[in-house]
Amino acid sequence: MRIGFIGLGNMGAPMAANLAAAGHEVWGFDQIDVTVPGVSVTPNARDAAKQADVVITMLPNGEILRSVAHDVLQVMQPGASFLDCSTVDVDSSRAVADLASQSGLLALDAPVSGGITGAAAGNLTFMVGGPVEAFKRVQPLFEIMGQKAVHCGDAGAGQAAKICNNMILGATMIATCEAFALADKLDLDRQKMFDVVSTSSGYSWSMNAYCPAPGVGPQSPADNGYQPGFAAELMLKDLNLSQQAAAAVNAETPMGKHAQQIYAQFVENENGMGLDFSAILQKFSQQDGEH
Ligand code: NAD
Repeated sequence: MRIGFIGLGNMGAPMAANLAAAGHEVWGFDQIDVTVPGVSVTPNARDAAKQADVVITMLPNGEILRSVAHDVLQVMQPGASFLDCSTVDVDSSRAVADLASQSGLLALDAPVSGGITGAAAGNLTFMVGGPVEAFKRVQPLFEIMGQKAVHCGDAGAGQAAKICNNMILGATMIATCEAFALADKLDLDRQKMFDVVSTSSGYSWSMNAYCPAPGVGPQSPADNGYQPGFAAELMLKDLNLSQQAAAAVNAETPMGKHAQQIYAQFVENENGMGLDFSAILQKFSQQDGEH
């Protein structure tokens, strides 16, 4: 296939490189100067999109996505698909899908989980919203960039799945960290706490696969000075998106809301920026609670 790839940052660059390495012809554009192995860089987004069978975007937010989509959908060839892999608000995904259908094109929202290591290794998970026909068409590309692609429903369903998952993750990480801080104060050894909880009803991905306590459980960012991994500010971005979505549909999400407030405080006022999201353990370990 001929692929246009717009947004060649931490995630986009390795994804585009994997598509090129698999034999696809990849034309890429980023607003900053980049070099990506196997990818022909174009001077603007339209040139990358013009003759593409699929245009993939991997951009920072919904506003930028809307503006790029507005620009490139007009020049895409009939029958081409627009595949957005960014994490953005559900409304922007749906607006882009509408814009695409006005141009007679099919659009998919396909945010990912797996982070930078998953992008490099080609084992991302895609959560996909939009027409099944388009999903089937780009399936071979999901197989190169990822290990799994789940069709979640109509436009926006991929973004909905992503923010629901990460709302659970944010709240669960906080619960795991506050439990470690409580265990410390009760003189319960962290390793013993892990041994019990990881095989009891408190187990979770945060505890079992990504333990926030250094030296406990499998290797995780905690064992590497909390270098991300999944940065706290990206977790905050996703928690903000889930709160924005909850407000739009009047959903009651008290734990998600509290998690959003705690990560906002951590990133904005407690030096959490640039650290892995599991570093929130330090916040609870250092603080005395008010009761
Ligand atoms: P990034 O900032 O490294 O990359 C975004 C790229 O988009 C940058 O290179 C930027 O120059 C480019 N860009 C911005 N405006 C543009 C425009 N108008 N035209 C062309 N290029 C433009 O971010 P990233 O880490 O690659 O994340 C991309 C998306 O993936 C985000 O939506 C993020 O939430 C999501 N995501 C990231 C991770 C992660 O671990 N980094 C994990 C899952 C999902």
